[in-house]
Amino acid sequence: MTLRRPFSGASLAKFPRPPYNPAMTVLIVDDSRIMRKIIKNSLVATKRFAEVEFVDASDGVEALQVLETIPVELLLVDWNMPRLNGLELVKKLRSDIRFLGLPIIMITSEAAKYNVIEAVKAGVNDYLIKPVSEKGLMEKIDRVLSGPS
Ligand SMILES: [Mg+2]
Repeated sequence: MTLRRPFSGASLAKFPRPPYNPAMTVLIVDDSRIMRKIIKNSLVATKRFAEVEFVDASDGVEALQVLETIPVELLLVDWNMPRLNGLELVKKLRSDIRFLGLPIIMITSEAAKYNVIEAVKAGVNDYLIKPVSEKGLMEKIDRVLSGPS
C-alpha cells in the first residue's frame, strides 16, 4: 500500500510560476565572464526565463552604454569592477530620472553589513551574496519584479 505524501514543496513544484514576459530584457553586469554565464544559465535553467532576452556588460561604463541603447527591465550588477564599479553605477542610475524605477539587484561577494547598507542607500532594490543559488536569485527577482511591497 502506498501512502499519499502530505502536501510538500515537491508537489508545489508541479505548479510552477508562470514564465516571465518574453519581451523582458535582463542586463547582467559583472567583470567576470564566467560569472555572467553562471547567472544567465541558472536563470535560463528555471524555464521561466527561457524566452527572456539577456544582455551583458563587463563594467559600469559598458552597462551605461547598453542602458542608453536598449530598454532594460531588470539589472543584475556586481560590485567590484574596473572603470565604473557597481556601486558607482547604481548611484549614477538613481540620479537619472529615466532609471529611477529600474529594478536593480546587486550580486556580490561584499557580504559585510556596511556594504549592504551602502548599496541599499545607493538605491539597489535587493542584494545577494555570492555564491548565488538559483533559488535565492529567483526569490529576489520575484520580489523585485512584483513591485514595492
Ligand atoms: Mg567583480
